[in-house]
Amino acid sequence: MSGASGNGSRGNGSRRNGSRPRLRGDGGWQVRVLVPGLPLQSCSVLLTGPQSEQIIVDTGFPQHDSLLLEGLQRAGVKAGDITGVINTHYHLDHFGGNFLFPQAWVYGSKQDFDWAVAIYESVSGGETRREVFRRFYPEATEAEFDRMDEARVLQLLKWMWDPATLGDLARYRWREEQELGLAGLQILPTPGHTPGHLALAVEGIEGPYLIVGDARPFAEDTAAGYDMPPHCQQRFLASRKLIDGFEGILIPGHDDPFSQSREAVTLGQQP
Ligand SMILES: [Zn+2]
Repeated sequence: MSGASGNGSRGNGSRRNGSRPRLRGDGGWQVRVLVPGLPLQSCSVLLTGPQSEQIIVDTGFPQHDSLLLEGLQRAGVKAGDITGVINTHYHLDHFGGNFLFPQAWVYGSKQDFDWAVAIYESVSGGETRREVFRRFYPEATEAEFDRMDEARVLQLLKWMWDPATLGDLARYRWREEQELGLAGLQILPTPGHTPGHLALAVEGIEGPYLIVGDARPFAEDTAAGYDMPPHCQQRFLASRKLIDGFEGILIPGHDDPFSQSREAVTLGQQP
């Protein structure tokens, strides 16, 4: 946990080949990692906009609120200055700090929210049988359920879920009902990990960024295995293909940013 400082800066300041740097005020967004992604800690990113918008993408576990506040302090931004929050999805480790910013709007997928909250309500009601959980993860294999049992995932959800961490639901805005409506930020539906997962493409001052959440949790695919199985494997792979075609800096849900070029992807896909 103490590795939070400076750890996530790999993508900051680097510029993709051939792109011209933008100047502040040129419409680009400043992109800073507030809390670095680790296997059991989701990445929180601060976006500072040309109109002084301060937006956080993913707010971590409720129990990681001090990490997020420390990250903001290092960035020189007060919690009260945050104007908006975007949630890539509604697994507990991605929205648990939403309550810290009661003045901010929150943007996410209603479909994802309803699905996730139904899981939390189910486990909070004492339901931890795997055959019931299969309703939420119809494709999960027995081995994946065994792993979840071993990791006591359902018990952990039950222990950690508190609707208060969501804050006031009246400030939530849903992708299904309205556009994000901010120049230089584009929501990309990337379902599969969860039913309504979103990624966010950012016109950064130093080039394009893609904040991918758990549509790509780790830079190296071999590092996978800590997170939940995909809700829908087919959609997960289709979303991954979309992500693989992006040129710029990728920020995974549980790892450090890394740079991806189209040439590298093309080469990697050759037989
Ligand atoms: Zn997730």
